[in-house]
Amino acid sequence: MTTALITHADCLNHVTPEGHPERVARLEHILHALEPLDLKRVTAPMAAEDDILRVHPASYLSDLRKASPAEGWSQIDGDTFMSPGSLDAAFRAAGAVVRGVDMVLGGEVQNAFAAVRPPGHHAETDTAMGFCLFGNAALAAKHALDHHGLSRVAVVDFDVHHGNGTQDLLWDEPRALLITSQQMPLWPGSGRPDEDGAHGQILNMPLAPGSGRAEMQAAYEGQAFPRLRAFKPELIIISAGFDAHQDDPLASLNWATEDFAWITAELCKLASELCQGRIVSTLEGGYDLNALAAATRAHVEELTKAPA
Ligand SMILES: [Zn+2]
Repeated sequence: MTTALITHADCLNHVTPEGHPERVARLEHILHALEPLDLKRVTAPMAAEDDILRVHPASYLSDLRKASPAEGWSQIDGDTFMSPGSLDAAFRAAGAVVRGVDMVLGGEVQNAFAAVRPPGHHAETDTAMGFCLFGNAALAAKHALDHHGLSRVAVVDFDVHHGNGTQDLLWDEPRALLITSQQMPLWPGSGRPDEDGAHGQILNMPLAPGSGRAEMQAAYEGQAFPRLRAFKPELIIISAGFDAHQDDPLASLNWATEDFAWITAELCKLASELCQGRIVSTLEGGYDLNALAAATRAHVEELTKAPA
């Protein structure tokens, strides 16, 4: 079995203003770092509107279309911008994760990584924020549940920022377990343990600034992995942000590149135990170009070594 790498050149046409951390070079560095790996390379389709509308209202989609600029930028919030290519990039990003779900559930590949931007985990129901337009991980989970008829999907988010958008989009969804670790305090400020979903199906694991491997492993081994085993997901979706890396400029956790390999390998073992190894991972944050490329490569290499 193989690992799919799903991406599209449109994701390089989402251009942010000079100095913005979520920039085209991020994806360029990642794709370069993944070049030597033996992966099934897949061109991301545009997401179907139905897939977007499982988590966002039609009014939100039409607002984004109206905000899409003919030239230059439109500013959606303090740090979220659209360039002329952004809307297509967002549809490709969402489409990549959905395609990953289709391929993994269809048995075409063991697992999949969507190398896409804009990222998704901060986009709330009707609010774009934190560089994100569509809730890629959440809408892929809904696609797996509603389109493929799965009963239980888990989303694991190890981006250093809280996945407030994924939490918002899955708050009322009893068929989805969301497990998210984040530095606290840190933007966007949410992610306390008492934010546990309408059905107690959300697990927030705050990590203190400056903490590293020991605290991360304690949280995942002590809380996350037992919850996954108890939930018995039929698919695991990973919101793979690499900004918990010690070199990242936007946060202050101290994960090393090997820690991203560790967490990926552990999730692959759990997926093998629980759901025939089915994992779909999608890129979220990570803003030091070299650390991002190295950590993403470590993550994808572990996916290629995953047991079935
Ligand atoms: Zn982040």
